[in-house]
Amino acid sequence: MGIEGDAYRYAVKNAILHNGKASSGAIVGKIKALYPKLDIKKTMEIALEAVKKANSLDENELKKEFEKFEKQGWELKPKEKEEKLPLLEWAKKEKVVTRYAPNPNGPFHLGNARTAVLSKEYAKRHDGKFILRFDDTDPKVKKPIANAERIFKEDLHWLDCDPDETFFASDRLDIYYSYLKTTLQKGFAYICQCKSEEWREKIKKKQACPCREIKAREQVKLFDKMLKGEVKEGTAVIRIKTNLEHKDPSTRDWWAAKIVDKAIHTNPNAIGKHVWPSYNFASAIDDHLLKVTLVIRGQEHEQNKTKQEFLYKYLGWKYPHCFHIGRISLPGLMLSTSKIKEGIEKGQYSGWDDPRLGTIRAFRRRGFKPEVLKEALFDLGVNTNDSVVQWAKLIDLNKKLIEPESERMAFFEEPLQLDIHLAPGQMGKLLVNKKAFEKFKKGNVVRLRQLFNVKITKKDPLQVFADFVGTAKVNKPIVGWFREGKDVEIVMDDDSKKLGIADNKIAGKEKGDRVYFDGLGFCIIDAIEEGKIMLRFTHK
Ligand code: GLU
Repeated sequence: MGIEGDAYRYAVKNAILHNGKASSGAIVGKIKALYPKLDIKKTMEIALEAVKKANSLDENELKKEFEKFEKQGWELKPKEKEEKLPLLEWAKKEKVVTRYAPNPNGPFHLGNARTAVLSKEYAKRHDGKFILRFDDTDPKVKKPIANAERIFKEDLHWLDCDPDETFFASDRLDIYYSYLKTTLQKGFAYICQCKSEEWREKIKKKQACPCREIKAREQVKLFDKMLKGEVKEGTAVIRIKTNLEHKDPSTRDWWAAKIVDKAIHTNPNAIGKHVWPSYNFASAIDDHLLKVTLVIRGQEHEQNKTKQEFLYKYLGWKYPHCFHIGRISLPGLMLSTSKIKEGIEKGQYSGWDDPRLGTIRAFRRRGFKPEVLKEALFDLGVNTNDSVVQWAKLIDLNKKLIEPESERMAFFEEPLQLDIHLAPGQMGKLLVNKKAFEKFKKGNVVRLRQLFNVKITKKDPLQVFADFVGTAKVNKPIVGWFREGKDVEIVMDDDSKKLGIADNKIAGKEKGDRVYFDGLGFCIIDAIEEGKIMLRFTHK
């Protein structure tokens, strides 16, 4: 029946109930319940249209319409959660092998997690295999970070995306060399020794460079010299021959390997190597050799498919199935690997889990649940659109999950002692929030949360005095309190620190436990050091 149809049914029902005059408010509620994903503007438009249509019916027509719908029954259930991941028709015949292939030159963040969780999900659904492969063959510009394997694996594990196998391209250089040699021997590639600007000028004009025509035997000889380190960096580039007429100049004779004289690498197996394959070459070879059947990667790699297909054709291989997906952003969070890295190096960020970053570590440390990130990513589906992940949505989902396990308690940045005169000769002492008491004056009555009511009799900068005035729930300001407090330190979402005192019941908690501080929000215990409890602010 569709959204418009459903809206109209309810408009008719509403009109019957209100003398032929339906109102859009009620219809909006119904549409929202049935189609929660529809944005509010569209919902309003549809509701208004439906109301207009229903209100234009005369009494008879309205009755007829109503009876028709009455027969069909009114109660509609929200539609089954839409399946956003396309089905793999081919998976009946082929095994599903996916891979997540980061260049480990920076941390794992929400932007690249989209590829990882989708790849894992498809492998899981089809009883296939999910490979983690580090595309770490750039030892100069995008050098790998230290401990990349541990860091990526920890984060993947947290997201329930453990790989079945792990590979490092930097361990496989000899494999790429053998394919480079084959392509040179067969005349599918050439070593270009032209100055790069000259080569570029030619290729722009769709002209072949003279090196392209040098005999295969000579090419292979030169390649051997390159491997031995006898050719200087910047003087020789291996290029795959492509269609020179190709409309995208970057595709024409794309580079497959080059020389790096002083390669810096974390992998001891890669030290001392002179020839380094491009991502495009290594990744293309590996996708085939590792029997990858489904490649899921960023939209920016779509043209790389075109490049790699030349190589696949030469080698007689079948190119894997591909999904290219759009970029994601999260307003207010940094999601650029290079900027994150730069910021950390400059000391702008405290580390990879600085709460201002969109890294998986930062989300984890700050107290987000992995299911929340995954749901938000799945919700974007598989498409090439660039998407914005909404904070409000992440927080909403996370709140639902953490609320039951977060004990509610008071937290004050500055406490104030409250002396209560309970009965003749009987005094009680509590700690309250100095800030909350700023607005109260002598004579005001306040309710101590879940306790009783007191009337302020005297206020000093460090102390307040009050009389007990009853236990009945009254319409008076409610304030938090505790008998004994504990020092806590909270790292907020902007990396600033809040020091204060929390209810001593926090003392029984452990690292990883969550609390809800009145007036502040959800926090997670990050560490307990020498009796001091350090927390991270999760969200309001
Ligand atoms: N190393 C590439 C990246 O990090 C992977 C692209 C691909 O999956 O082919 O973007």
